[in-house]
Amino acid sequence: MMCHYCNKSHNPAVACPAYKIIQESRYVDLIRTRLRKIESWCNAYPLKVFPEPDLKKAREVLKEAGMTLDAISASNMRHVLKGIKDIVEGKV
Ligand SMILES: [Zn+2]
Repeated sequence: MMCHYCNKSHNPAVACPAYKIIQESRYVDLIRTRLRKIESWCNAYPLKVFPEPDLKKAREVLKEAGMTLDAISASNMRHVLKGIKDIVEGKV
């Protein structure tokens, strides 16, 4: 079989260094694209737009309503980590 990546006689998917480099380059591009999505998400909640809340007060208010700040925080973290997982796995 003639390899169209290096013009030698071999199966490119098995033995071609040029093909391997191209495949690795494509993989790096894919990872770079996914990291840019995560980076973009990291910048989606600037402090100027979303100032840090008074967590002590939030804890008190939530407690009065029968909820905990820890439960809210855990829910938020699950959402973020699921989003990152979906980006890493290429689902979004
Ligand atoms: Zn080759």
